[in-house]
Amino acid sequence: MPTKTGFITGTGFYTLPGITEVRSQEVDTPYGKVYVETGNLGEQEIVFIPRHGKKHTISPQQINYRGNLYAMKMLGVERILATSVSGSLVPAWSPGTLILIDQFINFTYGRADSFYPMDGKLAHVAVTDPYCPTLHKTLVNCADELHITLQRGATYACLNGPRFESRAEIEMVRRLGGQLVGQTNYPECVLARELAICYATIGVVSNYAAGMQSNLTAKEVSENVKKIGPTISTLFSTLISAYPEQGDCSCLHALDEAEL
Ligand SMILES: [Zn+2]
Repeated sequence: MPTKTGFITGTGFYTLPGITEVRSQEVDTPYGKVYVETGNLGEQEIVFIPRHGKKHTISPQQINYRGNLYAMKMLGVERILATSVSGSLVPAWSPGTLILIDQFINFTYGRADSFYPMDGKLAHVAVTDPYCPTLHKTLVNCADELHITLQRGATYACLNGPRFESRAEIEMVRRLGGQLVGQTNYPECVLARELAICYATIGVVSNYAAGMQSNLTAKEVSENVKKIGPTISTLFSTLISAYPEQGDCSCLHALDEAEL
């Protein structure tokens, strides 16, 4: 039985092309009911969650991050590939650029960002490198094989939203080392680690950050993401067959020495 792969997508991606035998269901988690779709992509079973809902009605701070991740775990998902639509602070990374995010800085507040304490226990997971090294390596290989340009490594700053940032906030992010700015990758990435699920995010540049371009609108963000959609779908499908079925990954041991 192949390992189940989960996909969590953001703005602009509300369906996953290529899935067959799609079934919608609500998973009853300890954190509330979660809408998911299951189906097959190629030979593998997959689970899909559009994190803003099918009609983009759930704002970044209202997303049930814990419920989404826990539902994935309950359904047997062992690795998750996500997309995070982002504003770019790097002039060379224009709209449409795909980037493997490898670090985050969290500026959000008020979000439930840990499963702990759980069952009376407290754990402190390490997130020195918050994203899965095996997924990163496989994604880089797939992108090379498909001749898709995938930038390797970026620091993503997560702000609360749903409004876009001010010019001064973007300048702050830049001075602190942020290269992409978005509103949803935190706490998703750390919750995956707490559940020992492999997790990686592709940053999808939809626009330049505030102050670097004029007239930033949600419509423009959505239109730019739509253009890159087919490329991302191809990358997703290829990853499914390229990912090593056997083998270990450090993410699976995230809890081994996390309890005091
Ligand atoms: Zn991993």
